[in-house]
Amino acid sequence: MTALPSSGALYALLAAFGLIFGSFVTALSYRLPRGESVAHGRSHCPACGHVLAVPDLIPVLSWALNKGACRHCRTRVSWRYPAIEMLSAALFVGAGALAPDIPHLVLLLAMTPIMLALAIIDIEHQRLPNSLLLPLAILAVAWRWEGDKDFLTGMIAAAVTLVLGFGLDAVHKAISGRLGLGMGDTKLLAIAALALPLPVFLACAGMAGTVAVVIGLLSVRPANWRTQMTFGPAILASYWAALAAGSHLIGALLTAA
Ligand SMILES: [Zn+2]
Repeated sequence: MTALPSSGALYALLAAFGLIFGSFVTALSYRLPRGESVAHGRSHCPACGHVLAVPDLIPVLSWALNKGACRHCRTRVSWRYPAIEMLSAALFVGAGALAPDIPHLVLLLAMTPIMLALAIIDIEHQRLPNSLLLPLAILAVAWRWEGDKDFLTGMIAAAVTLVLGFGLDAVHKAISGRLGLGMGDTKLLAIAALALPLPVFLACAGMAGTVAVVIGLLSVRPANWRTQMTFGPAILASYWAALAAGSHLIGALLTAA
């Protein structure tokens, strides 16, 4: 494994790309659940319909300079836009700092906008669209190819995850009449099982469960926390961390052993 050059220029470039992809993620996470075309149709203000031009579309800067409002009708523009763009930039820089080599960095940068869009759509619409899960699954296979190439273990872990997830869901539904871990959540865990070495996947799944419970306890009213809780963002955050830091974790375990 060749270490990445840790130059300021690389991080500045990653931050810029992160902002641009973050802008794409805001459009994607808005249009996809509403059945709007992602590739066609220029962005427009949802209030006044004005087609947005370059001064409206510079990540973060446009929002700040226009004081968080549409340049044409002054309707407020949600803080979600600059927030998502900045989070995307932070994740791109984080990927640059943590990825063990160039192929893994490229794959992680390809996965990051998809995972961010999935997290936003799950929070806002409580679903994880297959049209985003499928490319994420393909990238998971590519990740494994660049790693230990242990596709047999990956397939078995993914299959066990699917059987357990769907099985537990059926049991939970039969007992309580409600869905437990959603279908999308189970598929997401299976994708993680496909990409990650088994010990890293198990750590990832454990972390996802812990994060989900903490998020659930902190943010959701106790009366309906079962139905409100979305595991998706917790799984996505843990999966991203496992992809970025997994090789460091394995290295530390091997050193300790
Ligand atoms: Zn407007």
